[in-house]
Amino acid sequence: MQPKQIYTYGSYLQERYGEKVFKVPVSISGFTCPNIDGTVARGGCTFCENDSFSPSLDKVQPLKGFHLNLDSTENPFLTKQLEQLELQFGTLSRRLAREYGATKFLVYFQSFTNTYAPFETLKALYDKALSFDNVVGLSIGTRSDSITEETLEYLATLSKTKEIWVEYGIQSIYDETLERINRGHDSANVERWIKKSKAAGLKVCGHLIFGLPGETQAMMLETAQKAYEWGIDSVKYHPLYVVKRTALANEYARGDFTPISEAEYIDTLVKALQMKPEHVSVQRITAGIDDDSLIAPQWCRDRNVQVRHINAALKQVGMKY
Ligand code: SF4
Repeated sequence: MQPKQIYTYGSYLQERYGEKVFKVPVSISGFTCPNIDGTVARGGCTFCENDSFSPSLDKVQPLKGFHLNLDSTENPFLTKQLEQLELQFGTLSRRLAREYGATKFLVYFQSFTNTYAPFETLKALYDKALSFDNVVGLSIGTRSDSITEETLEYLATLSKTKEIWVEYGIQSIYDETLERINRGHDSANVERWIKKSKAAGLKVCGHLIFGLPGETQAMMLETAQKAYEWGIDSVKYHPLYVVKRTALANEYARGDFTPISEAEYIDTLVKALQMKPEHVSVQRITAGIDDDSLIAPQWCRDRNVQVRHINAALKQVGMKY
């Protein structure tokens, strides 16, 4: 019997638009995260390498050191940010068109917390992104504690004519885990905003991490199950790995954190995929980093090898990615 193809985000977009739609990531200077700027915490999530999350951006003059938050009353650099958005989108979309014949795009606001700015700034950036040729919609990466009713309402209006996704970091439904990784919000907050986003008509992608400190496989699968029940439309699964210059690196050095093994990650992932409702599309099944910032586990270095191993395990249960 042929293995059953897992429903991917690419297939969802292909079905909806009749052709491949390319996600174009952009990183806008001036954005930060309330977990880094001290609003809810300092230092960020323990695994987050705050300094290099968006490496070159802080060096862009005159934006160096400039950061927005929800209470910012003015934004003197909006024109600069709009130019940056146009430049990044233009460069990447032209390359995708040249190399892959791409003709349709989703603009992906990826780095930092992309609803954590005054509404007028967000509106200007989202409107600009949607004005580019052949853009069918937006995907906005954020935290559930950093989106306002006003922004949600505006995105809901946009969603009447465009494809509007919000990507929330769920990570774990266990508050003790969220505290341990210094997440700065609880699980009830994520559930509330996912449900509000869905009720407003938006599409939601949930990010899950397997291998968080202190978690058993049963806990990881419980998180996946709850995320599906909250109504996410799409999912990204990640293993937790340790990179240099993070609080997690210190925990690891002290022997207080043991990374998930590849075997356990794959076993958990396969089970999470088997539990997944058919209509929830999959955007990512693993993650890795192939540079010298990776401390552990070493199996997270090569994504191609990981995907090969994952597919071998999926085959055993009659599935493929
Ligand atoms: S929410 Fe994201 S950007 Fe903020 S500290 Fe955590 S991982 Fe880093």
